[in-house]
Amino acid sequence: MVVQDTFYSDPAKWMARELPDEPVFFYDPERLTRMARRFIDGFPGEVTYAVKANPDPVVIEALSRAGLQAFDVASPEEMALVRDVDPKARLHYHNPVRSKAEVAAARAFGVVSWSVDRMSELEKLGDIEGAEIAVRLKLPVAGAVYDFGTKFGAAPEKAVALLRAVKDRGGVPSITFHPGTQCRDAQAWVAYIAASARIAAEAGVTLHRLNVGGGFPAHRNDPEPDLEVIFDAIRDAVRASFGDDAPALVCEPGRAMVAEAFELALQVKAICDGAVFLNDGIYGGLSEWRDLSPSQRLTAYAQDGTRRDGETVANTVFGPTCDSLDRLSDQVSLPEDLAEGDYLLFHACGAYSTALVTRFNGYGARKIVTLMR
Ligand SMILES: *Cc1c(COP(=O)(O)O)cnc(C)c1O
Repeated sequence: MVVQDTFYSDPAKWMARELPDEPVFFYDPERLTRMARRFIDGFPGEVTYAVKANPDPVVIEALSRAGLQAFDVASPEEMALVRDVDPKARLHYHNPVRSKAEVAAARAFGVVSWSVDRMSELEKLGDIEGAEIAVRLKLPVAGAVYDFGTKFGAAPEKAVALLRAVKDRGGVPSITFHPGTQCRDAQAWVAYIAASARIAAEAGVTLHRLNVGGGFPAHRNDPEPDLEVIFDAIRDAVRASFGDDAPALVCEPGRAMVAEAFELALQVKAICDGAVFLNDGIYGGLSEWRDLSPSQRLTAYAQDGTRRDGETVANTVFGPTCDSLDRLSDQVSLPEDLAEGDYLLFHACGAYSTALVTRFNGYGARKIVTLMR
């Protein structure tokens, strides 16, 4: 990403002055710091950050400055990225499938926690004496926009066997899970916490830690999610399920931590017969729109910076490439007075956005303007 070194307080003013014809991300470090504080103050345990949601070094730096000391990483490259920013950061390697070369690289980085969801991958780790091994649990629970259990996770019976194997081999047993991304339902965490207590009891192990994953929802659509309701439900569920024997808690938010910190400004290249063509799309900063419902959080501006606030109508919205799949959806509500040359400012674009931009067909958002409020 190209980080612009000038600082502006207001994206609409910046666009009116610069009239960019390329996509622009606006990064708000203060908002990121506020969200980090909200997690640190509200979550009843250690807050880590899932690097994949937005691996930009400016993000890792801001989170480290805000007080995060551990990061969820999935690859040696993410480990290097984190260590470049904070040489003392603790690394949780929670990608449960790894090549032998990746295991060796992770050992060299001094990873402190590993997740496993199958015996063959536990065996691949070799000597685990004294290492924290978090068994990745999966349950058939609903609540998220898509199910993270289809790829990773051990069903309860297998989790029991894995916990026993970790203990037998001298590892430090923990449980980890991920309820699925953009999960609005606190009951998903409650169900996982209750199951974790049952599974640990059945395996005859005392859990060192319980990692309740990511999945915390961003404000993509109204109503705004209430993170504190989820934090409280987690706190209560741990007390109810484990009593006095409660393990220390860890969470690893990705999306909810970074979403609000970035906005994405796109220009309307053309409007014709109800079709709107933008200068970025699913191969760029809006790649998640293939799998998630369209976000309603966007503001339209004319070139002079005034808001377009006409009645909204449903539009078919296309990205800039010549691929006919490069289409956002038929249900993007846009003001009926939207015109060619206008800008659409998409809010809450900090997660799975900058990280997924391609250069397909010569497009893709690259520029970041840092905001100072
Ligand atoms: C992706 C991921 C996260 C972050 O998930 P969000 O839904 O972005 O919060 C956390 N933990 C693991 C293991 C992940 O793979």
